[in-house]
Amino acid sequence: MSDLYTRFVSGALFPLQEKLKKHDTVRVHRDMEASQWWPRQRILDLQLKRLQALLQDVAAHVPYYRELFARSGFDPAAVRSVADLQALPFLTKAEIRAHADALRADNAAGLARFNTGGSSGEPLIFFIGTERVTHDVAAKWRATRWWDVDIGDREIVVWGSPIELGTQDRVRLVRDALMRTELLPAFEMSDDKVDGFIARIRERRPKMLFGYPSAISHIALRAEQRGVRLDDLGIKVVFCTSERLYDHQRETISRLFACPVANGYGGRDAGFIAHECPSGNMHITAEDIVVEIIDEAGRVLPPGQSGEIVVTHLATRDYPFIRYRTGDIATLGDDACPCGRGLPILKDIQGRSTDFVVAEDGTVLHGLSLIYILRDIPAVRAFKIVQETRSHTRALIVLEAGANTEGLDATVIEGFRRRLGAGVEVSVEFVESIPAEKSGKFRYVVSHVAVR
Ligand SMILES: [Zn+2]
Repeated sequence: MSDLYTRFVSGALFPLQEKLKKHDTVRVHRDMEASQWWPRQRILDLQLKRLQALLQDVAAHVPYYRELFARSGFDPAAVRSVADLQALPFLTKAEIRAHADALRADNAAGLARFNTGGSSGEPLIFFIGTERVTHDVAAKWRATRWWDVDIGDREIVVWGSPIELGTQDRVRLVRDALMRTELLPAFEMSDDKVDGFIARIRERRPKMLFGYPSAISHIALRAEQRGVRLDDLGIKVVFCTSERLYDHQRETISRLFACPVANGYGGRDAGFIAHECPSGNMHITAEDIVVEIIDEAGRVLPPGQSGEIVVTHLATRDYPFIRYRTGDIATLGDDACPCGRGLPILKDIQGRSTDFVVAEDGTVLHGLSLIYILRDIPAVRAFKIVQETRSHTRALIVLEAGANTEGLDATVIEGFRRRLGAGVEVSVEFVESIPAEKSGKFRYVVSHVAVR
């Protein structure tokens, strides 16, 4: 863990600080501030130029793509439209696992290693170069300014990623110095912990909260229950991310913090894909990210039709994410936004739906604490976790074709019991597919019984 942390800091944060000194992030951000107001076609022309440059770059420097292009006869110099991307295969997690090294550019700069989890099993490892960090920070910076929050403003991040969790104190110090950001680790939501979070938010008086809507609404409701105010702190916006934002959560958070709630869609793997503007639309970071919507057969769908989100991140020359399958569902809009920004719109996003689970002893845990266990197992293609009762949790698992399942049950049962308690019953069920929930198709769902 400490090794990972060191790489995280030396690979991402310190170069970022350097970049900030050299005004690279500042420059990218300044360009984005201007281009967001361009007519949509001009933005898409820029996007195409950047796509052409990325494809030529990876052809020259990334072994995986050099070989793929040679094998398939794909000529990056002949790309004339974003639709030409369709000649390339999708990049899946399995593909990244199988070609982890061949995906690195031979001239990559400042690669930082990231890991989607690590509770057990083989984690998904990928890399992010400094160019991408610069662009992702600039994209977030632009979006928060839509809500009157600037990069130097105080921010509290409600987060639960294991990278930060194991090393939160040091990450906090570095981030504090760099971005005036403070981290509240949101995996364990016992009353004591949550009361501590509430006290810290009151003390810190951030301009913005950023994090899981489930965790932030939980904190808000606990404050309400105790009669502690959160509406007098001058918070400008709560930015929700990483999981689906439900209407009831938006209402709760907005009411108790007395500020608007903005939705952000994206992840560490796929980048900051889209952010909500004050007119209520989710604008794609189109200068940096190509979004394709595909059907179940992998065919690209036109605007207005719902399907899986596939992204190509144009600032990933060091470790390319080209046609990366997110597993989330959305629709591309083709209408204009009343806010005047030309950035294209993503609608009806049905992302990861997570919830809390309750351990045997009554401790409330974020659903990710179980999700991380399953998503780090290479044999697992999709899953759903259902907590039937406090003493019985089911894991429904779709396996990768030809996967080795030896010891898989035991790994899942042991991992779940470590989180939930040694006495809980865990049933592991192998299924052909995960049935759709309500209107959407979720990759995973954590359901739980009432806490109290
Ligand atoms: Zn807008």
